[in-house]
Amino acid sequence: MSPATPFDSTRVVRKVRGRAASDGAGVRLTRVIGGQELPDLDPFLLLDEFGTDRPEDYLAGFPDHPHRGFETVTYMLDGRMRHRDNHGNEGLLVPGSVQWMTAGRGLVHSEMPEQQEGRMRGFQLWVNLPAKDKMTAPRYQEFAPERIPLVAVAEGVEVRVVAGEVSGDDGVRVRGPIEQPATDPMYLDASLAPGAAWEHRLPEGHNAFAYVFEGDALLGSGDEARQLVAHELGILGGGDLLRVQAGAAGTRLLLVSGRPLREPVARHGPFVMNTREELMQAFVDLQEGRF
Ligand code: FE
Repeated sequence: MSPATPFDSTRVVRKVRGRAASDGAGVRLTRVIGGQELPDLDPFLLLDEFGTDRPEDYLAGFPDHPHRGFETVTYMLDGRMRHRDNHGNEGLLVPGSVQWMTAGRGLVHSEMPEQQEGRMRGFQLWVNLPAKDKMTAPRYQEFAPERIPLVAVAEGVEVRVVAGEVSGDDGVRVRGPIEQPATDPMYLDASLAPGAAWEHRLPEGHNAFAYVFEGDALLGSGDEARQLVAHELGILGGGDLLRVQAGAAGTRLLLVSGRPLREPVARHGPFVMNTREELMQAFVDLQEGRF
């Protein structure tokens, strides 16, 4: 007998549903990674989805707060967010743009909605840094929508490549603009028309997840395929060849992976270090104005 699925096919090893949460000055969001159910998925520490048409859910924004020891990745779908930090950096995130911020040794910033009404939708992902990079200088990689490649990868399937690589339907490899050798991240936003299918090879040795945010999709091959509906995350495992098939309404999903750091994590709020002593030092440094 031949197996129903090739030995190297990826499958959903666990499903996690986001939970309603509130952060900043009362922004309502869905926490998918970083809550009780899934505290982290090395190297990822947090995934929040913002998605609301109600200004009262987002207007208060995220006033001044610190970060140290990791990276925050903001990917906007709808609405505008202005960021400012205590080193004089400022920018406006518009729909379709990405900001990959390496907090490193620390900064204090605000992330405030620019609009007064309409829809706000997007994601924030936290990516850990290895011990050797935790105290690096802060750095921004910020890209407008037109700088993020949109690649036709199969019939009815288009992928926005924020980080990592995909193969176009013409066989040409396309790479996203973000560079981070420490975790070698892949960050893809895939849109599939109703019933469309796509196969994508995941980077070897990475931890990976898919997060469906529109419609529904079958992930995996043959008997092992599992359905993810909107606001469900699937932790991926098994082999490295992932098959995605959209449901009847089509789907849109994030497909994210990174090389695990396998280091101890000492975490408190906006500080993510390796030891408790380093966490204490972060509080002292913040209080003494060294951010
Ligand atoms: Fe922040």
